[in-house]
Amino acid sequence: MNARHVIDTLTSQGIRLVVEGNRLRYHPKESINDDQVELLKTHKQQIICLLSRPEPTDEASWPDTIDGHALEPCPKCGTLELWENLAGNWRCLRCDPPTRWRKFAAKHGLPTS
Ligand SMILES: [Zn+2]
Repeated sequence: MNARHVIDTLTSQGIRLVVEGNRLRYHPKESINDDQVELLKTHKQQIICLLSRPEPTDEASWPDTIDGHALEPCPKCGTLELWENLAGNWRCLRCDPPTRWRKFAAKHGLPTS
């Protein structure tokens, strides 16, 4: 059982977990059994981490660089959804999707794979 699982199990039983600084509180105390107290102790730091940090958004999980290339959002639509063509250029997935590139490459006799 991981920390996430412990949180889900306890909250589904109506137990509220509250982080206060570096302390983990739970109530109502009478609803929790000894095994679950042990689980909370075992995973305390991770649970505190999970509860005090908001869920990462897709945007936050994007790396700053891919293979040393700085990721610049598309100047037209601002998306960070990019793909790299065979020439090593980063293209916008929305404004310049790979399908368009493949058609262009086919038309001009460029290799596409
Ligand atoms: Zn774009």
